[in-house]
Amino acid sequence: MPEQKQERYEDSFLYRIRHSAAHIMAQAVLEKFPSAKIAIGPAIEDGFYYDFDLPRSLTPDDLAEIEKRMRQIIAGNYPFVKKVISADEARHVFADQPYKLELIDGLEHGGTDEHGNILTEKPEISLYTHDNFTDLCRGPHVERTGQINPSAIKLMNIAGAYWRGDEKRPMLQRIYGTAWQSPEDLEEYLWKLEEAKKRDHRKLGKELGLFYFSEDIGPGLPLFTPKGEMLRHLMEDYVRETQTRYGYQHVWTGHLVKEELYKRSGHYDNYKDVMFPPMVDENISFRLKPMNCPSHMTLFKEMGRHSYRELPMRFSEFATLYRYEKTGELNGLVRVRSLTQDDCHTFCTPEQIGSEFNLSLRLIREVLDRYRFTDYKVRLSLRGKTGKFVQDDEKWETATAALRAALNENQVDFFEAEGEAAFYGPKADFMAKDVLGREWQLSTIQVDFIQPSRLGLTYIGEDGAEHVPVVLHRAVTGTTERFMGVLIEHFAGAFPVWLAPVQAVMVPIADRHLDFARQVAAKLEGYGMRVQVDDRGDRMNAKIRDAQNQKIPYMLVVGDKEMENNQVALRLRSGENPGPVDLEVFIKRWQADVAKGN
Ligand SMILES: [Zn+2]
Ligand SMILES: [Zn+2]
Repeated sequence: MPEQKQERYEDSFLYRIRHSAAHIMAQAVLEKFPSAKIAIGPAIEDGFYYDFDLPRSLTPDDLAEIEKRMRQIIAGNYPFVKKVISADEARHVFADQPYKLELIDGLEHGGTDEHGNILTEKPEISLYTHDNFTDLCRGPHVERTGQINPSAIKLMNIAGAYWRGDEKRPMLQRIYGTAWQSPEDLEEYLWKLEEAKKRDHRKLGKELGLFYFSEDIGPGLPLFTPKGEMLRHLMEDYVRETQTRYGYQHVWTGHLVKEELYKRSGHYDNYKDVMFPPMVDENISFRLKPMNCPSHMTLFKEMGRHSYRELPMRFSEFATLYRYEKTGELNGLVRVRSLTQDDCHTFCTPEQIGSEFNLSLRLIREVLDRYRFTDYKVRLSLRGKTGKFVQDDEKWETATAALRAALNENQVDFFEAEGEAAFYGPKADFMAKDVLGREWQLSTIQVDFIQPSRLGLTYIGEDGAEHVPVVLHRAVTGTTERFMGVLIEHFAGAFPVWLAPVQAVMVPIADRHLDFARQVAAKLEGYGMRVQVDDRGDRMNAKIRDAQNQKIPYMLVVGDKEMENNQVALRLRSGENPGPVDLEVFIKRWQADVAKGN
């Protein structure tokens, strides 16, 4: 069943707590710096901020003092009182606050509100007052300052911010704070922040030796080490094997395409800003592929006349695409310029939309489960009442009904977003939460009524006449690069055994054990295990520490006793120490761990 409409953040108690905390902070700052000019102070996703023009730079000691004063104001349990006034009255109240005067002008002319949001209608101008502090504000607020838990607020940091985000305007000092309903919530938030820093895939990627970026190669173009490539290979191999099991076929369509094709498919207009400039040969412009759809559709067409009996046909490809992302928007592996999509296009009849969507759903669920994403929901994006959407009521309605039915049948949590569909058909996006509760959009399935006809695709139906197939665009993990970034953070670099680029490391205690270590490694490799031998001259403890830092699942220590008994002394990255085991026993354990997805 679709979820109840989620409460908007702006309507939540948490939002009011945070917005009220911003006012209280501004009061504390004004008391400390009576000449301060105050700008804007909204609630944000995980807290609040307020921008100030101050006589000097703030220090961490200032923050501690301001925070302390905020707690006193909260304890005063002052009511928040709203008053609606005219623009002129507001100008009088804020006569010595130039930023507020500018905001009042904006409000009067229906420009932007106190949070910088552009307004379409001329808004009412209102003030909120608590204790001796009055702000130009739309609210909403808590009723009294005492509704804020003084142990659940914290000032986080100071940053520079241009007034109205305009670098030609004054640079202000922004204080970020956070506020929660309970101290436990605050503690959890702070823990997650710390943990997110530790798990940052850019940091871990370097520590684990998985990938690098080089100025010599260029921004947004990652280089993968042998370990990093092994990880890519394992990820793609797993998806490929699963897709094959579900009846998808793999194709390959190269990296360059004539620009002309993108003009016919309609991509040119939507993607021209993210395509790298054309390469011209014999007066023909070529582009690096920014997407696969037109290539797969062209392949379908070139393969000859299709009968309805051949449908559905499912083409998958791990294709590296190139998109010109602005350098300022690049972010580790999560946002790159060379991205490898696990892209699939299913060609089917309109009647097959439901069963194909169902198949994709089952495949996606299996894959997400394997990667231990158990908390996810689907955003089902539908057409709006007006706008860009293709006009064909019957197609939209049957497709939407088929999608809903498949989601219900598979008992997937979903919510509907009206007006959010692509112009060519409805889509379903999987929003998965990682272990820190951060939401990532991963898999997607889109129904397409338009591109197949633009590119002239047909099949001969049961009635002997030509029909245009429907295409389902589908990605499971999205792109290999971004998903790898997400996985590194999700697992904190400790990949499950099946996915670990190195599964076991042999640790010989002394040089005389090296040959035995190599023999064991060769034997394990024969079973398909990914094993390294640490043959450095370091002490055993240092080697174990290194292996633990590298998050290698098994450490196999070998000394005199192990050599004699044909055993390995097993240690785990968790710090557990199961001790000496027969080689066969260890192999069984490894096989079981891989099978279970441990
Ligand atoms: Zn306010
Ligand atoms: Zn596509």
